[in-house]
Amino acid sequence: MPLILGAAMLTVPAVAIAQARLFDPEAAEAEARDERATHTRSTLLQIGFAPREHVGPDDTEVWIAGRAITWSLPNGDISAAAPSVADTARITAVIQRELARYPAGYLARANMARVLVCEHLRENGRDIPSLPNIDGGWLIDATLSDGFAARIVHHELYHFIDVADDGTLTSDVEWEALNAPSFSYGAGGRSLRTAWASERTDTAPGFVTAYATTAVAEDKAETFALWMTRPAELAQRVSADEIVGRKVNELRRRMSR
Ligand SMILES: [Zn+2]
Repeated sequence: MPLILGAAMLTVPAVAIAQARLFDPEAAEAEARDERATHTRSTLLQIGFAPREHVGPDDTEVWIAGRAITWSLPNGDISAAAPSVADTARITAVIQRELARYPAGYLARANMARVLVCEHLRENGRDIPSLPNIDGGWLIDATLSDGFAARIVHHELYHFIDVADDGTLTSDVEWEALNAPSFSYGAGGRSLRTAWASERTDTAPGFVTAYATTAVAEDKAETFALWMTRPAELAQRVSADEIVGRKVNELRRRMSR
């Protein structure tokens, strides 16, 4: 009898802890996040990535492809190769330098946890420079030039910020209202993956690049990336283009909240 009583007493605190968890949404969310991170890490190890180092104010993980990668993601099949030692060191230095510009806690709030470095990055057989929002990580091709890679860091980070603020990348009524009433976005970033699309343009009023016209999410990311990497050029553009000016003001407002 005393033994049974002892066992019953032992179960009480466990039940109490389980109940406390049920009623603590923050703890439940943290637990779910940890589980997702564990699952993501094991997937990355399986497909051929290995963790290398931490960079930036929030210890963003840098993972490197150790061999040829194939990875089936919801939007397409990814293939990539292991980057060279020299490109890995160069691109990691660019990522470190650019992420260091953000205050502590900023990247964590945007749920940006890791960068996945590879080479010859392709989606459905087409070359791509990078790909964001993969379970808290983003892929980057280590052969990109330093200048383009720096822009990509901020561009992809903005996609994380964009998802973190309201859970979606696909619509943004407030932002869309900044455009001329007759304008509508194109068929998405995947519809215009050419090198010239990322060149700064003055021929599309209201947009900093042709790529920015493909989707509302790309418009925000392109404007933000230009602001972070070529502020003088953006200032020039703002003085000549009222819509771009409104977009920069809107980004400033959103970044400060
Ligand atoms: Zn993008």
